Amino acid sequence: MAECSLANGTRGSKTPPTKDGVTAAELFLEEGLTYNDFLILPGYIDFAADDVDLTSKLTRRISLKAPLVSSPMDTVTESSMAIVMALCGGIGIIHHNCTPEFQSNEVRKVKKYEQGFILDPVVMGPDNTVADVFSAKARNGFSGIPITENGQMGGKLLGIVTARDIDFLSREQYKVKLNEVMTPRELLTVASSGIKLKEANDMLQKSKKGKLPIVNEKDELVSLISRTDLKKHREFPLASKDEHKQLLVGAAIGTREDDKDRLDMLVNAGVDVVVLDSSQGNSIYQINLIKYIKQKYSDLQVVGGNVVTTSQAKTLIAAGVDALRVGMGSGSICITQEVMAVGRPQGTAVYNVAAFAREAGVPVIADGGVSSVGHITKALALGASTVMMGSLLAGTTEAPGEYFFSDGVRLKKYRGMGSLDAMETNKSSASRYFSESDKLKVAQGVSGSIVDKGSIHKFVPYLIAGIQHGCQDIGARSTEVLRDMMYDGKLRFEKRTVSAQVEGGVHSLHSYEKRLY
Ligand code: GDP
Ligand code: 5GP
Repeated sequence: MAECSLANGTRGSKTPPTKDGVTAAELFLEEGLTYNDFLILPGYIDFAADDVDLTSKLTRRISLKAPLVSSPMDTVTESSMAIVMALCGGIGIIHHNCTPEFQSNEVRKVKKYEQGFILDPVVMGPDNTVADVFSAKARNGFSGIPITENGQMGGKLLGIVTARDIDFLSREQYKVKLNEVMTPRELLTVASSGIKLKEANDMLQKSKKGKLPIVNEKDELVSLISRTDLKKHREFPLASKDEHKQLLVGAAIGTREDDKDRLDMLVNAGVDVVVLDSSQGNSIYQINLIKYIKQKYSDLQVVGGNVVTTSQAKTLIAAGVDALRVGMGSGSICITQEVMAVGRPQGTAVYNVAAFAREAGVPVIADGGVSSVGHITKALALGASTVMMGSLLAGTTEAPGEYFFSDGVRLKKYRGMGSLDAMETNKSSASRYFSESDKLKVAQGVSGSIVDKGSIHKFVPYLIAGIQHGCQDIGARSTEVLRDMMYDGKLRFEKRTVSAQVEGGVHSLHSYEKRLY
């Protein structure tokens, strides 16, 4: 039998030439690529997935134990999302499609958050009716409602209504006012503000009550503690905190003159980082604002963007940003590339901007286009320090908005901040995508819905474990090692064809159930 002739021209037993992928620099030499276009080749494992350290820089001065950021969108991040993101080791950026008062109050709620204390409980007044409590229960799922003189937080405490006060009432009695059914103030067990969670715990145990209202010296309601929460008290070893042990939080602002007032209010509320929210950040407006902020609040961390090229990054770095947000047109709700003809595939954008910004010590946030945990690992492997998510976190319990049903599926709204729907709600959203003088608004995003994903208390730990497993397969003990491997050329990548992408997904089944965690 004839010996086969090998590609390198030798005959017989010599090993044929082989190649394990390419370096990141080689991968991104030519056409623009995004996460699905390539894979990372596996390395050598000599450590447990749990041991992978995901500590990453959000900005020059802020580090997070989990490289995860929730996007400043009005269907993604308000205080509930930001609190749980920070508890789980990431951070939330509060959106600005609202008044400065509302936004700074959301920031304040995160900064004032103490585990176990409900700082903005649903409160009613003595003239509210039993029917109001039932409808609040249908909306929120709880019926323990403090009653104050003015029906608001901060009002003088008059009593509390719980399920036991209204359980047995007939429909005719739904009109009855709460001052007739509530447990009055003199019969309540209350605690004074400043009480520690441990003491509150003891009080609830002794009194056998379900709720413990906390009042100040004027007997005004300042917070509420629920027995259910104490029972499920958890530790959050990864929590992102400042030097006063308060949770970290960010907020987005635009680049107009009146955003300077918004900025002052956010700083007063204790914001740790501001994100300048422009779809194309390389502008005179953003550069001037960065300089203004750095002069007025030198301690405040400023994220500039969005950018996708090194030349855009260069101007913002020169202006003094502490991090860059990278992405243009890659978001799931975004139609910028289609309408404006401008943008860049996200993999290429992240790789190039991160490699450039690294020289100046500026971390990069990969923003948009992340639809699975594997995409997060890929973004980190391309040099991003953190990853910002919209659609992945929308539809969770902590995302703003009510659930609704459509064709039997439980959904929440998710919309682009450049969608006409969002821009009609408030003009700050419009400012990211238009100038005031624009006569006709051209939408850069769409409005849609997303399936109920449950709480991010479960989802974010799943993301963290997923990234740790990815790093373990690659052979990187930390995100820092991962990046070093990439820049040293040790991390090997391979492009994949469309059919390889099909092969890499679930295929050849008649039906299947995809449960992720
Ligand atoms: P309730 O007895 O019907 O009020 O309900 P539970 O005490 O069993 O559960 C209330 C749950 O909802 C706890 O986990 C609370 O932390 C949470 N929660 C969130 N916001 C509020 C609020 O404004 N009021 C009350 N009562 N609970 C809240
Ligand atoms: P996702 O995680 O859903 O893929 O993308 C979220 C990101 O899309 C956001 O962080 C933001 O940068 C971007 N984005 C949000 N709304 C819009 C919009 O209406 N148009 C465009 N072009 N981008 C948007």
